[in-house]
Amino acid sequence: MATKPAIVSIDEMTIEQHDALFVITELIRSGRANTRSDLGRISGLGRSIVSQRVDDAISLGLVEEAEFGVSSGGRIPRTLRFRHEIGSFLTVMFDTPNMVLAVTDLSGRIIAIERVTWDYSEGPEISLKRIPELFKKLDAQHKFAPIWATVVGVPGPVEYNTGKMQASMLAGWNGYDIRAFMTDAFKAPSLVDNDVNLIGLGEYSLLLDSNQEPGSIDNMLFVDVSIGVGAGIISAGKVHRGANGTAGDIGHIQVPNNDHVLCRCGQLGCLSAVAGGWALARDGEQAAQDGRSPYLKAILEKNVFLTHLDVREGALAADQYCIEAVSRSGRIIGETLAGLVNFFNPALIVVGGAIAATGDIFLAAVRQSIYRRALPLATRDLRVIASDPKHEEGLLGGAALAQIETFTRAQMNAWIERRMREHAN
Ligand SMILES: [Zn+2]
Repeated sequence: MATKPAIVSIDEMTIEQHDALFVITELIRSGRANTRSDLGRISGLGRSIVSQRVDDAISLGLVEEAEFGVSSGGRIPRTLRFRHEIGSFLTVMFDTPNMVLAVTDLSGRIIAIERVTWDYSEGPEISLKRIPELFKKLDAQHKFAPIWATVVGVPGPVEYNTGKMQASMLAGWNGYDIRAFMTDAFKAPSLVDNDVNLIGLGEYSLLLDSNQEPGSIDNMLFVDVSIGVGAGIISAGKVHRGANGTAGDIGHIQVPNNDHVLCRCGQLGCLSAVAGGWALARDGEQAAQDGRSPYLKAILEKNVFLTHLDVREGALAADQYCIEAVSRSGRIIGETLAGLVNFFNPALIVVGGAIAATGDIFLAAVRQSIYRRALPLATRDLRVIASDPKHEEGLLGGAALAQIETFTRAQMNAWIERRMREHAN
């Protein structure tokens, strides 16, 4: 169906017209309105302005007419849809020992995933070059729409404004300008965030999609218990990063009476060093050697070293030492979380990561500590649940972050302006 060009030239368009175009497009994109009458009712804009700006959005290729909607008495309205297929987002997760890439459309729907093993001690130059190589391979197969934004999720704190990693456990990556590399390689805005923030955001968007009652999960903690312990904070529906991007790095909160335990950060008694996967592996090795855990002893004899995953499997196989070790970890993490509950008052805590996947053993211990230690009012409506990992949460979180940062007034108006100039030429 041919549509007549409706857009006035950019120079003729007033700020109000420009802004109305953004508002109309955003209401359709976010699913809050899909007919001209809904657009008018929700935006408060007049009928003819709505109609003109919808025509503009169609001419720019942002929006198209979809199927017929439901009549409320008069003529059956034609619904409008945002064309999510006109652009792509690329998310890369540094999920050691893997590098995982996902390309989504603008709605965050995953189109393709590539997962390769990667050794990040190769350093940033060699490692980052893998990203465009892997992307090209995927693109040859899928023919993606142009990249609108890229997101990289890295282990450890990130200074979000500059996209630089801080105090990284990955040797050689400290302060490296990942964002500059990505912007140059993909000619699109790029974002770098802490991996647990992205997984938390992914969990949050999955919960939103699964029809949780609105508002009830807008203050939520995602706690990742893997080799270390970290948290993603969703506050009033937004990722809370703090002044320097380190908010949620709970693994280095001090646990009382553990001053003999040295953390990799150089401090004593950190939560990660006392109760994280790293601690489970360290203590498990001791228990294997002195015969307290027959299960771990057998593994150690076969593999020479132990990981936190062995302790988790031991707990699932009903090895008494492993069950106690995992419960102890849950209890200690729960005590730290109790303090955070008093401070932050979340409605939901989602516990994820490798250690959380021990069924009820770990979760029950976490819950018990929180409910015993936190303020009654803070826990009255609190739910503590285990994540149901699909191993795509970080990738979905990356796409969600790309949406948040792309569909802003400033970004979209800049896009609209570029497209209008292209039309004019
Ligand atoms: Zn530490």
